[in-house]
Amino acid sequence: MQEELEAFFRKEVLPRNRDWHNHVSKHGTAPAFLETLKAEARRRGLWNLGLPDLKDDQPGTRLTNLEFAPLAAIMGRLPWAPIVFNCNAPNVPNMEILQKFGSLEQKRQWLAPLLDGKIWTAFGMTEPEVASSDARNIRTRIRRDGNDYVIDGRKWFISGANHPDCKIVIVVGVTDEEGGSSAQHSHVIVPVGTPGMEIVRTLPIFGRGEALGAPCEIVLRNVRVPQSNRLGEEGAGFAMSQARLGVARVHHCMRSLGSCDVLIQLMRERSTARKAFGRPIGDFANIQDMIALSRIELEQAKLLVFKTAWLLDEGGPEAARREVSMIKVAVARTYSAIADRAVQVFGAMGVSDDTPASAAYTAARAMRIYDGPDEVHLRTLFRLEPREVVGESAHYLLGERGL
Ligand SMILES: Cc1cc2nc3c(=O)[nH]c(=O)nc-3n(C[C@H](O)[C@H](O)[C@H](O)COP(=O)(O)OP(=O)(O)OC[C@H]3O[C@@H](n4cnc5c(N)ncnc54)[C@H](O)[C@@H]3O)c2cc1C
Repeated sequence: MQEELEAFFRKEVLPRNRDWHNHVSKHGTAPAFLETLKAEARRRGLWNLGLPDLKDDQPGTRLTNLEFAPLAAIMGRLPWAPIVFNCNAPNVPNMEILQKFGSLEQKRQWLAPLLDGKIWTAFGMTEPEVASSDARNIRTRIRRDGNDYVIDGRKWFISGANHPDCKIVIVVGVTDEEGGSSAQHSHVIVPVGTPGMEIVRTLPIFGRGEALGAPCEIVLRNVRVPQSNRLGEEGAGFAMSQARLGVARVHHCMRSLGSCDVLIQLMRERSTARKAFGRPIGDFANIQDMIALSRIELEQAKLLVFKTAWLLDEGGPEAARREVSMIKVAVARTYSAIADRAVQVFGAMGVSDDTPASAAYTAARAMRIYDGPDEVHLRTLFRLEPREVVGESAHYLLGERGL
């Protein structure tokens, strides 16, 4: 499948990159060729590859997380390429949550068109007023009224909410203020166009206003939806968000690896093509080191991602808990370091949009915040650090003659 995907990517996807960006920046919509590419990817069995629980009657090729990982890395070489294969954020984690917790009707209405690549969705958790890296802080109020829920709150950085095909926002809010800190929240599906839900602005990332799928600020005022729009159990939202984020994190990491591979190749080519002080810049040890270090760090990160995917397959999210936090930190930092070196190797061109380096640089920086900031994962890892390396014998290593 890697060969098949690689061939399709090189022949059909990569050559359209410039047309993609020209069209999106001019019209704010995806170019028509996207649907042709999607149909062809689907015909070739390169569709919905990131859903290990895909049912027999659902479209796509069911793969394990480990099988998907190298394929996601190939797609991740271009930010928009995962859409061609229906493997893009935030839709895949939303498919996963609908698959796990959706009612039959919710699956019919929202999961089916998502699996067909016909609609877009958003996930609304983060709020401007509270530190949202602690999901228990989320304040948006969801109260019962007859057979309905009425929702009031403000969300921001909601990716994809302004996409022309976005049909629902999965809103996280408090249904039970008296519940324990992990039992207060629920997920409710709010269809786009519901009175009271309004996108008030988009939030460009480092000034980069992606026309498609940019994060948005959303106000919810007296938004009324039927209680049947709740996903899963009332009060189970905290656990559901954690489950959803696990997948989202791993997939983001997988895709970023592909972007790193591209940056290393571009640095390598530039190092022979560009001459300074009478020789190719690749003759200078600093450039060689930058490329070599990038490769070492990328291979380390890749193997840790593959291990995480394998653990997820073998034992589920609990078995991979430490590794998910590890890769979220390691990949975001590796990606940042490699993008930073690529900017440097390209000189002034590196800070322009004439190479993918500057977009990668900002994407990598943002990655250290979304899906949980680095510090929160480091804290988790500190807490999960095993105490049993040498057990109680550790005292032989300390104090006098404890070298
Ligand atoms: C590009 C992008 C896309 C996003 N897409 C979405 C989306 O689709 N849906 C959505 O709901 N949200 C989305 N987000 C929001 C993202 O998930 C949040 O920004 C993130 O969870 C952090 O929350 P916060 O911004 O409130 O930071 P805060 O919680 O205010 O944290 C700020 C800083 O405080 C420090 N800090 C916090 N906790 C700890 C701790 N325990 N130990 C040490 N230091 C700590 C860290 O340095 C952290 O960066 C997106 C963000 C970005 C940048």
